Amino acid sequence: MIDIKQVHKSFGNREILKGIDLHVPTGSVTVILGPSGSGKTTFLRTLNFLEKADAGTMQLNDISVDLHKASNKEILNVRRNTSMVFQSYNLFSNKTVIENIMEGLVTVKKMKKSEARDIAQRFLKEVGMEGYDDYYPVQLSGGQQQRIGIARALAMDPEVILFDEPTSALDPELVGEVLAVIRKIAKELEVTMIIVTHEIGFAKEVADQVVFMEGGVIVEQGDPKVVLEHPKEERTRKFLSRYL
Ligand code: ATP
Repeated sequence: MIDIKQVHKSFGNREILKGIDLHVPTGSVTVILGPSGSGKTTFLRTLNFLEKADAGTMQLNDISVDLHKASNKEILNVRRNTSMVFQSYNLFSNKTVIENIMEGLVTVKKMKKSEARDIAQRFLKEVGMEGYDDYYPVQLSGGQQQRIGIARALAMDPEVILFDEPTSALDPELVGEVLAVIRKIAKELEVTMIIVTHEIGFAKEVADQVVFMEGGVIVEQGDPKVVLEHPKEERTRKFLSRYL
């Protein structure tokens, strides 16, 4: 479970997040939609302290933190329980696929290499990349690299995975394979997910909750069928009409 209250963030004198509240039940999927510049990425980044919020609190199961004032120890504790999947994969180019997935297990979780390798192989299989252990990222397509990014996130056994536009950097023909992997893990694994994406069809199919953000506020949220097919707010309707 993740419960977020009153997140504020400004860059200079521009207020980008104007008091965001969000509750995501354990094992559920929340998709955040919204126009470019509405603050979606900034919001995700405040949740694992890649950006420091100006104010706000977060409850992550039994961990409770102030997103502005958290100590280094609290930040580490949140990071141990959350994984992030980035738009640009962020794999280590000088490490093989299996080493990329093992890295956090060995350095953060202090696991033995043999144990980390077993876990990494399990998640390679989970994302349909069995047998690619010794490839380097440059030898893979963007879709394959992103599936490794997802395997790396899953291997850490996080309570929450934050996906920041996981398919935006991909050629259109590769988007489907990555969405299929996310769909599969949403169904099979009890992991709580917050996904920022522009893929409306995917949101309709996979999300338990859709959030529409604009101008640093949540304009509308709820059941995907209701928000996406019968939006109450004019701003949501206008945004969605661009995708129909
Ligand atoms: P997109 O869908 O295009 O990724 P978004 O909704 O994720 O957009 P953000 O990336 O959160 O939007 O950006 C919101 C606003 O904050 C933008 O105007 C952006 O220029 C600004 N912004 C983001 N990061 C910084 C930063 N480090 N310094 C200054 N301004 C920033």
